[in-house]
Amino acid sequence: RCSLEDGVFSRGELGRYGNIELSPCSGVINYGQGLFEGMKAYRRSDMQGYMLFRPEENARRMQHGADRMCMPSPSVEQFVHAVKQTVLANRRWVPPQGKGALYIRPLLIGSGPILGVAPAPEYTFLIYASPVGNYFKKGLAPISLVVEDAIHRTMPGGTGGVKTITNYAPVLKAQIEAKSRGFTDVLYLDAVHKRYIEEVSSCNIFIVKGGVVTTPATVGTILPGITRKSIIELARDRGYQVDERLVSIDDLVGADEVFCTGTAVVVAPVSSVTYQGQRYEFRTGQHTLSQALHTALTSIQMGLAEDKKGWTVAI
Ligand code: PMP
Repeated sequence: RCSLEDGVFSRGELGRYGNIELSPCSGVINYGQGLFEGMKAYRRSDMQGYMLFRPEENARRMQHGADRMCMPSPSVEQFVHAVKQTVLANRRWVPPQGKGALYIRPLLIGSGPILGVAPAPEYTFLIYASPVGNYFKKGLAPISLVVEDAIHRTMPGGTGGVKTITNYAPVLKAQIEAKSRGFTDVLYLDAVHKRYIEEVSSCNIFIVKGGVVTTPATVGTILPGITRKSIIELARDRGYQVDERLVSIDDLVGADEVFCTGTAVVVAPVSSVTYQGQRYEFRTGQHTLSQALHTALTSIQMGLAEDKKGWTVAI
């Protein structure tokens, strides 16, 4: 944990997990001035040390978000150093390979007091970590999505393109409703036309149709996922054409495969998308592109395959 006062982040200190003290008047509590990141550390295949996946990308995404939210942010070096220290301090909690990962949650919050609506006078950057199991206990479990057309994650000019804490609570209602109807998660539509698909609660979406892979372009309303960016590259390496464009709900008709990507889910095949009572079904399981990409990505992340792209950072 380190604090920023007078424009300088102090040297970080490691502490036991516990409550933090905040002014009731802090910027984060009152005006939602807060950003977070989500990362995973895996145990290396040789069991010697740990692996991070593209941590500079998380650092840069936080910097970009900080700019949008009028907050100062740690440098890429500070961010990555702090993440490494957190992993080392929690090394005994990193699950054995194949059994999960150490989830790492960097947070940047306006911790100083501010009564009127304005940026907080002080900031705190902190990281906590927790072991997590595999998202799906039985391998690549397909997920079912329902399209939400009444509740939107974001709007043009909003904060959908950055990982601010305020993007998440407003869609809990849609998620709870979807789960109560038996769906795994929600697929959100754009708020203007209500016909372009954007993303799922915590992952990006891809459609495979006739050998072409398509994903919604990150036009400011969608979080530019680091898994998304990596999967685009891995699919292109396999000879697939990957288009980033506006993707309408009609593009789902006749799709061969649909899958989601994110740090938590890695690559998750989508078995069905339900929109206004109509259920579209897609291929999942053996010999699918989503399965091949899942294997390719996790092999790099865990050090089982050669990291030709220099995506991993060993600790
Ligand atoms: N979209 C949203 C809304 C998310 O919260 C996440 C998780 N960070 C993603 C997409 C996927 O991003 P990443 O691949 O960087 O985890």
